[in-house]
Amino acid sequence: MAMVNFLIFGPPGSGKGTQSVKLAEKFNLMHLSTGDMLRAEIAAGTDLGKKMSSIMSKGELVPDEVVIEMIAAMTDSTKNKAGFLFDGFPRTVAQTEALENMLNERGMKIDCMLVLEVDHDELVKRLMLRAELSGRPDDKDPAVIENRIDVYREKTEPIIDYCRQRGIYQPVDGVGTIDEIFARLSNLIKERI
Ligand code: ADP
Repeated sequence: MAMVNFLIFGPPGSGKGTQSVKLAEKFNLMHLSTGDMLRAEIAAGTDLGKKMSSIMSKGELVPDEVVIEMIAAMTDSTKNKAGFLFDGFPRTVAQTEALENMLNERGMKIDCMLVLEVDHDELVKRLMLRAELSGRPDDKDPAVIENRIDVYREKTEPIIDYCRQRGIYQPVDGVGTIDEIFARLSNLIKERI
């Protein structure tokens, strides 16, 4: 059966990670989160992790090559999966082009970009709250939170236009309870899988 591949997209704090875990389980998708992969490198104390942690703690993006390589290493591990769910990747247009090439080489494509829409004040509120639970250094400092949102608007949001031109852009209301948003996303995935 052909794989159906999704991007889950949205600003920091929009709920991508929370929803991805639930969606991957429900629809048997391979969930790939570059944020999780990078934090695993840091936790393991690798050289790469050491290099990336200062970039991440400032709320800047790590170099495209780093995340592209991480994803490339995973794109062949698709055994018995219905598709990919890319979370927090791509974050630049260059990453998007690299992902398209990787998928095209394997006879696949990006089938749908699900974009969680959440207003600015709600994002900041959620990230401040998460800081207390997650212990993530990039959630603790309000200036870093604002920088991550700015970086999203400047470097990541242009991917929306790129995907809109390809007819795969699908906005989703990202405000509500976790279950309500999960139901919205699930309906959109169900139609395509
Ligand atoms: P967020 O909650 O901000 O969406 P993530 O867990 O996806 O958090 O990512 C945390 C940090 O890891 C980012 O702020 C960035 O520094 C780095 N990062 C993760 N994915 C990428 C990527 N695709 N390209 C560049 N940097 C990334």
